[in-house]
Amino acid sequence: MQLYTRILIGMVVGVVLGALLGPNSSLLTHDVAWLSVGAQWLAVVASLVGRVFLALIKMVVVPLVFFSLILGIASLGDVRKLGRIGGLTLGYFTATTVAALTIGVALTNLFRPGALMSAHDRAMLLGGNDATPVMNAAAGAPSMLDQLVAIVPSNPVTALAQGEMLQIIFFATMLGIALTLLAKERAKPALDLCATLNDAMIVVLDLSMMLAPYGVAALLFKVVGTTGLGVLVALGAYAGVVLLGLLLHAVLIYVPLVRLGARLPFLGFLKAIRAAIVLAFSTSSSSATLPVTLRSVETNLNVSNDVASFVLPIGATVNMDGTALYQGVAAVFIAQIYGIDLSLADQATIVASATMASIGTAGVPGAGMLTLAMVLATVGVPVEGVALILGIDRILDMFRTTLNVIGDATATVFVARMTGETPKVAAAV
Ligand code: ASP
Repeated sequence: MQLYTRILIGMVVGVVLGALLGPNSSLLTHDVAWLSVGAQWLAVVASLVGRVFLALIKMVVVPLVFFSLILGIASLGDVRKLGRIGGLTLGYFTATTVAALTIGVALTNLFRPGALMSAHDRAMLLGGNDATPVMNAAAGAPSMLDQLVAIVPSNPVTALAQGEMLQIIFFATMLGIALTLLAKERAKPALDLCATLNDAMIVVLDLSMMLAPYGVAALLFKVVGTTGLGVLVALGAYAGVVLLGLLLHAVLIYVPLVRLGARLPFLGFLKAIRAAIVLAFSTSSSSATLPVTLRSVETNLNVSNDVASFVLPIGATVNMDGTALYQGVAAVFIAQIYGIDLSLADQATIVASATMASIGTAGVPGAGMLTLAMVLATVGVPVEGVALILGIDRILDMFRTTLNVIGDATATVFVARMTGETPKVAAAV
């Protein structure tokens, strides 16, 4: 059986077991002792397998990005081409993020999910969740300017050790440029070493992915098992608007970009990156998914390492259409619940600040929720309102991360085509 099929089976098993035997399951309230003990054991094993699997794939992220970016930049051979790729990439990221936010804000105005929430549900959600950690994180967030300066690492080893992705990208880019400026025979040993280590990291990744069916099952077991159905009902309209928005963004923005921009069949494109899609969904982390996204785009879509190794790591860090869209919906939704009328100017402020916020969001689970607090603060919506949507955030995170990763892959094939490459779906896909 193909690895991908086994991963899909793992997803289904994780969801079903999580619903039946997770901590919030109704089955477990019947006081059947052996069932509860069994479920507890299952939870321990699932947590162990899930954490080991996540650690294994995260282990590859920093070395893979580092080596493959040095190689990619060095093989461009020309700093002007780097400028073109860089300019296109950043323009693309900004445009799609603003589009995502516009879709999110417009839909929330149209459906007004906040008006549908009963006073009882509102009191339950506000009382049952503690928003203090989110509010503290928002208060301690660095300014935009500080974040820009922080892209330059004063110590690259610290950057690598701490997994500071933008700093790593900056340093690897400089190193790649420097290697192209050296005489060819001087640079060759270093580049050969990078190429070998890069290939070795891909082998490590492939080996780790053998655990993926179990890891994915374990991760989903935990998420499904800990989100109660009650929250889903109370927040159904809000969740519905977020999901509809994510779907619309894929249809209205990605389909034309992939079909007309990159000239690829959209379904073939999705199929080529399906391993990354499944992983994004089950890990809720663009960063953890990055090695698999890189591999899929290069192997299955014929994109060169130059483009993929540049666009994808930056994309996984700053390009989050799903997160931006969700923040737009959430901000307007929370304002609706509090009865705050947002003017057109306020909504434009939400679009602007959530664009920044999604750039500043780390590609890890739940990060979008922290930066959402900043968006709320800029338009005077009570930050403690995040308590309203906290309960369902983990589930929605799975969907928005999936869109984030599809968006990064779309950017890659688009930029590849625009810079003269011919991305195509490999026959083996
Ligand atoms: N989990 C998302 C990601 O990794 C970020 C977010 O929380 O929205 O892409």
